[in-house]
Amino acid sequence: SGKWARAMAILREFEEKCGTPIAKLRQVADAMTVEMHAGLASEGGSKLKMLISYVDNLPTGDEKGLFYALDLGGTNFRVLRVQLGGKDKQVAKQEFEEVSIPPHLMTGSSEALFDFIAQALAKFVGKEGEGYHPAPGRQRELGFTFSFPVRQTSISSGTLIKWTKGFNIEDTVGEDVVGELTRAMERQKLDMRVTALVNDTIGTLAGGRYHHNGVIAAVILGTGTNAAYVERVHAIPKWHGLLPMSGEMVINMEWGNFRSSHLPLTEFDQALDTESLNPGEQIFEKLISGMYLGEIVRRVLLKMADEAALFGDTVPPKLKIPFILRTPHMSAMHHDSSPDLKVVGSKLKDILEIPNTSLKTRKIIVELCDVVATRGARLSAAGILGILKKLGKDTVQDGVKQQSVVAMDGGLYEHYTRFRTTMESTLKELLGDGVAENIVVEHSKDGSGIGAALLAASHSQYL
Ligand code: ADP
Ligand code: MG
Repeated sequence: SGKWARAMAILREFEEKCGTPIAKLRQVADAMTVEMHAGLASEGGSKLKMLISYVDNLPTGDEKGLFYALDLGGTNFRVLRVQLGGKDKQVAKQEFEEVSIPPHLMTGSSEALFDFIAQALAKFVGKEGEGYHPAPGRQRELGFTFSFPVRQTSISSGTLIKWTKGFNIEDTVGEDVVGELTRAMERQKLDMRVTALVNDTIGTLAGGRYHHNGVIAAVILGTGTNAAYVERVHAIPKWHGLLPMSGEMVINMEWGNFRSSHLPLTEFDQALDTESLNPGEQIFEKLISGMYLGEIVRRVLLKMADEAALFGDTVPPKLKIPFILRTPHMSAMHHDSSPDLKVVGSKLKDILEIPNTSLKTRKIIVELCDVVATRGARLSAAGILGILKKLGKDTVQDGVKQQSVVAMDGGLYEHYTRFRTTMESTLKELLGDGVAENIVVEHSKDGSGIGAALLAASHSQYL
């Protein structure tokens, strides 16, 4: 009937506009490399902020003692303690707790958010038990992983440039987030010092390097997306500080804000952006990351419901609610391997209150999920190629056989198998056989928390 033809026409048109042939991915990678140069050349030189992290030394394995970390990234935050045992013992013991952030605190006041965080931290510290050895007479020290764009002023201070990923608290913007946290800890009577402020990408890079010294970059695919890598200081014209002994500096790219005319943007992406909390910002992130993939699917489905009557004569009311279809739901539907696609059927029923869908309808939805996830995964691979190009690691180098490792983390990468395998196979395809064997993509699970604790250790006030 006309309904199927119209729904398929919408799907095919969308698929075509989402196309990411290899030639296009190369253009995206090249544009990424160009923007990296521009962002390193001068402050504000590019949409890519290429933020200086003040991390010029990565963990060596010698770090020792009890350290805490706090990871504030998206919907959850984690508190963590580790007892570091140096070269032979490594991470002797670790514990963490995850706390979800009440949504009203994400758009409320700065004080309320930081009070909530400090309270949870104080409670966690209160439960410190066997096997953890705070140094007598010393303050406990903390690495603060804060995964929003920050202009660092030192390893342990920095001002918030803007919120992303559903957070929007005006009075934090322009403030030193370590100051905010420190004051909240004081209000909780918690005696602890923040010795390292890092982004989750930097934490993941540090955590990854602790286990494998080939780690040169870290990429997060979670609620949002971002990347960090190790740059030579000589290649950072905007750095006017002292030349570090290592000659290196870790750069937080803030690649979520990348944009380029080569990105395959559709009418659905434009509308999502316009109606978002941060219109015109984080365009790469809005194509790739977990906060948005399910929402893109919802928007296309809404058009199919509206213009092709895919779900009958009326548009299901739930389908009109922004962000109701989350990426984990999308991923569950995408991975449905049952013959009658019963997972798709039950998600539609439970989340969108659309009962009794036909197999034909369900198949369209799986295909739609595939189009959205494939585009995101292939664009992430292009972003990684951009970094490798910047480092000159996208070609076969004579005599160099040391493997370079890209540490990956984030809920999207960890749980969305089709996304991950597409990203990895696309990167291989982009690199070609000879180069691909020198580049390893490695899951650095929860590396960002451990990484922050390691950086807190290597920047301890007692060293
Ligand atoms: P954050 O980025 O907030 O620090 P995570 O790295 O844990 O947190 O990523 C959480 C995100 O991962 C969620 O917002 C969601 O988009 C995505 N995610 C979690 N589970 C799944 C899943 N099963 N399938 C697809 N995406 C998932
Ligand atoms: Mg995170």
